[in-house]
Amino acid sequence: MSFDYDLFVIGGGSGGVRAARVAAGDTGAKVALAEEDRYGGTCVIRGCVPKKLMVFASEYGDMVEDARSYGWDITPGDFDWTAFRGKLEAELDRLEGVYRRLLANSGVETFDQRARLVDAHTVELADGTRKSAKHILIATGGRPVKPDLPGAELGITSNDIFHLDKLPESILIIGGGYIACEFAGILHGLGVKVTQYYRGAQILRGFDDEARGLICEEMCQKGIDVHLGTNILEMTREGDQFRVKATNGTERLFDQVMFATGRAPNADDMGLEGLGIERGRKGQIVVDDYSQTGVPSVYAIGDVTDRVNLTPVAIREGMAFVETVFKGNPTPVDHDLIPTAIFTQPEMGTVGLSEEDAAEQEPIEVYATSFKPMQQSFAGRADRVLMKLVVSQKTRKILGCHIVAPGAGEMIQLAGIAVKMGATKEDFDRTVAVHPTMSEEIVTMKTPTRTA
Ligand code: NDP
Repeated sequence: MSFDYDLFVIGGGSGGVRAARVAAGDTGAKVALAEEDRYGGTCVIRGCVPKKLMVFASEYGDMVEDARSYGWDITPGDFDWTAFRGKLEAELDRLEGVYRRLLANSGVETFDQRARLVDAHTVELADGTRKSAKHILIATGGRPVKPDLPGAELGITSNDIFHLDKLPESILIIGGGYIACEFAGILHGLGVKVTQYYRGAQILRGFDDEARGLICEEMCQKGIDVHLGTNILEMTREGDQFRVKATNGTERLFDQVMFATGRAPNADDMGLEGLGIERGRKGQIVVDDYSQTGVPSVYAIGDVTDRVNLTPVAIREGMAFVETVFKGNPTPVDHDLIPTAIFTQPEMGTVGLSEEDAAEQEPIEVYATSFKPMQQSFAGRADRVLMKLVVSQKTRKILGCHIVAPGAGEMIQLAGIAVKMGATKEDFDRTVAVHPTMSEEIVTMKTPTRTA
C-alpha cells in the first residue's frame, strides 16, 4: 500500500519538530507536519523560553541593590514592561523562524492548520484535505486549565501573561505548582504586589519537603504573600479589579487573577475515540514504552501522553520514536533520574528521590546543609541556600540530590550526570571541592544529618 508520507506529525512543538526533522534528515523519510498555532509550541512560545527571559528580567532589580552594597554608585530604576515585551516578542519571532527553517531544511512539508485522525493511516486538515501516512505521530502538547468555579473565566493563565498590555499593580496567583511559584517570583521581581493562594499544606507538592519549605520561606521573606491551606471560591469583576472570595473567609480585591492550576493534554476532538485509541484519567493518550498507542501505526509523545511533562523529555521521546520506527532499533524512553530545575526565586535543581520517597523505599542517610551564600550575605541579604543528598544505606548510591540556590538549575545538570551514572556518597567525597563556591558543599558534607 502506498501512502502520501512515511510520517505525518501533528504538532510543531519541541517533540514533534525534533521527531519530524530527524526522521526526514537522518533517514530520508518523507515527512509532513501540521501545526495550528505557532511553531515551537509551549516551550518556545508560551512556556520555558519566555518564562526564563522573564526570570532574568525580574532579577535585575535585586542585582542593582546588591551592586550598591558592593560599592557601585548606581540608582535603581523602574521596569519598562512595554520595552521588555517588544524585545521578548521579537525574540520569539526569531525562534519561531528558526524552527520553521529547521523543518524546511530537513525537507519536512508543513501545513499551518489543525489536523485530526480519520483512520489509522489518514489525517484530515482543517481545510478538509486528507493525507495518508504509514505512521502518524501525535505531539500536540497540553494547555492550562482553570478550575470550575464562578467567575473563573475572568482570570488569566500563563498563556496570557506574556501578552498583557501593562503589568498589574497587584495579582493573585492560584496554585502551588511549578508555574504558580515561578510566576510569583517573576512578577514580584518586576514590581507587582503578589499574593498566592495554595490549597495544600506546602507549595511544590511532590518535591523534597525540606527544599519546598526553604523555597516557601524565602518567597515569603522577599515579600510574596503566600497563603497555604487557602483556595479561591469565586471571583467577580468590580470596576477595574476583581473581588475574590476565599476559603479562609476573606474577600479581597486584585488587579489580576492568574490560575496556575495544572495543565491538560491536547487530545480532544482529534478523532481518537473513533479509532479506539485509549485515553487515561486526565485525557492523556495512553502509550507503551515505545510511545506506541493501541493502534500500531499511531504514536504519541510529549505532554499529550502526560508522562514526564518536560521539554527535554518530549525531545527524547521523539528521538526514541525515530530510532524505533525509522532506524530499526527499538528504543524505550528512559524516564528514570531526570534532573530538572524549577525557576522559583530561589531556584531549585533536583534529581532523583525526595527524602520522603526514598525513606519509604529503603533505609537512607541524609546529608544536608543550609547556609547564607557569600555573594548575597556580603550584600546584606538573609537569603539561605540548601544542598542535600539522600543516600542509600545499603548501596551507598545517591538516591536524590536537591539544591536550592541561585544557579541551582545549572548545578543540577552536572550533578545529574554523576547521579545517573550511579555515583555513591564516597564518589562525591573523593571529589575535590571547587573553592570558594556554593556547590562545594555537595562534596564536603561528612556526617549524616539524620538517618531514616
Ligand atoms: P502542577 O500540576 O504542577 O500544579 C498545579 C497546581 O494547582 C497544584 O498546586 C495543584 O494543587 C493546584 N490545583 C489543581 N487544581 C486546583 C483547583 N481546582 N483549585 C485550586 N488549586 C488547584 O501544574 P503547573 O500548571 O504548575 O505545571 C504543569 C506542568 O508543567 C508541571 O507539572 C511541569 O511538568 C511543567 N512545567 C515545568 C517547568 C519547569 O521545568 N521549570 C515550569 C513550568 C511547568 P495540588 O498540589 O493540591 O494538587
